[in-house]
Amino acid sequence: MTPALQDLYALTRADVTAWMETRGFSPVHGARLWNYLYWEMVDAFAAMVELPAKVRRRLEQETYLGVLPTALATDSSDGFTRKFLLTLPDQRRIETVLMRFTGRATACVSTQAGCAMGCVFCATGQMGFARHLSPGEIVAQMVHVGRALRRAGEARLRNVVLMGMGEPLHNYDATMRALEIVRDPSGLSLGADRITLSTVGVVPGILRLAEEKQPLHLAVSLHAATQEERAALVPAAKAWPLDQLMAACRFYSERTGRRIFYEWTLIEGKNDSPDHAHAVGALLRGLPAQINLIPLNPTEGYKGAPGRTEAAKAFQRILGDLYGLPSTVRQRRGIDIAAGCGQLAVAAAGR
Ligand code: SF4
Repeated sequence: MTPALQDLYALTRADVTAWMETRGFSPVHGARLWNYLYWEMVDAFAAMVELPAKVRRRLEQETYLGVLPTALATDSSDGFTRKFLLTLPDQRRIETVLMRFTGRATACVSTQAGCAMGCVFCATGQMGFARHLSPGEIVAQMVHVGRALRRAGEARLRNVVLMGMGEPLHNYDATMRALEIVRDPSGLSLGADRITLSTVGVVPGILRLAEEKQPLHLAVSLHAATQEERAALVPAAKAWPLDQLMAACRFYSERTGRRIFYEWTLIEGKNDSPDHAHAVGALLRGLPAQINLIPLNPTEGYKGAPGRTEAAKAFQRILGDLYGLPSTVRQRRGIDIAAGCGQLAVAAAGR
């Protein structure tokens, strides 16, 4: 049986060095290969011209460069967002987004093809689950964005958010392995303060993040402050009820000393009233928390409308003035390119 080829994007720097050494090649070639992967971000072995021919030949025989071809790339009219629909080796499609809102390039990457969590307002959730992504497929998305920046003559990738398709804590091991690879300071150098992982509230995963003190920012999608309302929006809340989720969040903050970002998708008439603001204020009061209020990105499969700006401002005032909770209202950007997670893949599938 032919052994499976090794995806180079699934290797740490130490693995790359070991790969060279076990084949009798100098570790210097390992360092050069690493630079080709994460500094020059080449997309073919042929571009690795400074590696001896025998090393390149062996690489071609035993490994592959898991570059993900672009099926579609779209730019938002405001120029802040570029969305890529990327093709996996099994021809499934995932989404990766380059965002430049803060002047710092941020990649929003996927961790699964589809998603099993089924959030009612999310295009990916409406699509269902196909499969987990491998560590190399997660890393390859960040390299893809880095390469796009380089081609455009822009600064390097600064931040990554795990907020694309899929639930990262449902694909825990592959996600953590990918983060270990991209954190390397001699590679993509996406250190602890540059990574934000967003979860719908997978309690065992949050506890594990806390136990392992994984160096990242944690964002928890809350959307409702009662179990009943939350379960109606986020079916995963039936498996991990709100009281268990909040206990896990408290444990996480105590254990890591880190504040949690709580995401609140504002849906008009559903969760954007002053009563809702009071409910979430009471739930989070005293916790190291920041609330991100995000007007809904409309999808074809969900009837809700985005919360209005005035409602968001009133919500924010209640949180800050009465509960001492900092919050931000995110602008809805990239709507014209279906920038909400899963929307481009759904649209492309329908073409
Ligand atoms: S919002 Fe996130 S967790 Fe929920 S269905 Fe969409 S991709 Fe999955």
